[in-house]
Amino acid sequence: MKIIRTVRAMQQVCRDARRTATLGLVPTMGALHDGHLSLIRRASGENDVVAASIFVNPLQFGPNEDLEKYPRTFEDDCAQLEREGVAILFAPSPDEMYPQTNGQKPQTMIDPGAIATRLDGAYRPGHFVGVATVVAKLFHIIQPDRAYFGQKDAVQLAVLRQIVRDLDFDLELIACPLVRDKDGLALSSRNRYLSAEDRKTALILSRTLIAMQDDIRKGIRDSHRLCRQPHLLREADESFKLEYLCIVDPNTLLPVSEAVPGALVAIAARVGETRLIDNFLVAEVGP
Ligand code: AMP
Repeated sequence: MKIIRTVRAMQQVCRDARRTATLGLVPTMGALHDGHLSLIRRASGENDVVAASIFVNPLQFGPNEDLEKYPRTFEDDCAQLEREGVAILFAPSPDEMYPQTNGQKPQTMIDPGAIATRLDGAYRPGHFVGVATVVAKLFHIIQPDRAYFGQKDAVQLAVLRQIVRDLDFDLELIACPLVRDKDGLALSSRNRYLSAEDRKTALILSRTLIAMQDDIRKGIRDSHRLCRQPHLLREADESFKLEYLCIVDPNTLLPVSEAVPGALVAIAARVGETRLIDNFLVAEVGP
C-alpha cells in the first residue's frame, strides 16, 4: 500500500491509476472498525483499485467538540487497510489540506445550505460545511469513479448526495449498510469513549429503533405516535440526553407525517460526554 501525504503526489498517483483502472474511494477519519472495513470490501468488489483516506478534518469539529481527543490509531489502521488490499492511502496533515490558514478556516468553503442545518446540523452548527468542503476537496484531488459512505451517517449522506448533484461531480456515490456490534450498538470510532456503564446506556438508541420497527410492522405509521417511545423515557437516566428522534425524507431530511417505505428514522443522543447517532430506513416491502 502506498501511503501518500501530499495533495500533489495523490493527484499524480490517482491520475496514473485512472488511466487503466476504475478507482473507488473510501474517505475516513481513521480509528477503523468493521463498519469502515465493510465500505472497503464493497469498494474492492466494485473497482480495480481502492484508495482510502484518513484525515481527522478540523473544519468539521465545533469549538467544544472532540477534535483533540478523537482516537488516532494510524499504525493499526494501516495494517487493516493493507490486509484488505487497499492500494493507496491518502493521509495528509491539516496544513497540507488547508495551507496558509494558520489553523483558521480557509477562505473557500462549500455551504450546502438549508439541508446542512437539519438534524445533526442543528446540533452541530457548521459541521456539514466542514464535511462538504473536505469531501469536495477529496473528490477533486482523487476523482474516483465511485465513492463509498456509510448509511450510519444518514444525514451526511443526504448532504453529500446534494453536493454531488449541485456541483456536478462525475462519480457515483454509494451508500453502504450500517454495521452493528453484537449487542446492537452501531459501530463508531467514538464508541471507544464509552465506559462499561455508558455502553449499556448507549443501547437505548438501537433498542428504541427496534421498538419502532416492531410498531411499524404492526401497522402503526403515524410519525408522532411512533416517536413517542415510552421505554426511551423509562430507561433513560441523567447520563442519556436525547437530541432528536424523528422520521424524515432521506433526501431532504424534512419531516414526514407517516413512516412510509424508504423513510429515514433517525435518533441522536448524548451518553455522558459522547454524542451517538443511529437510524434505519423503513423497509420498502412489508414485514
Ligand atoms: P468516519 O471515520 O466516522 O468519518 O467514517 C468514515 C465512513 O465510514 C463514513 O462514510 C461512515 O458513514 C462510515 N461508517 C462509520 N461507521 C459505520 C458503521 N457502523 N456502519 C457502516 N458505515 C460506517
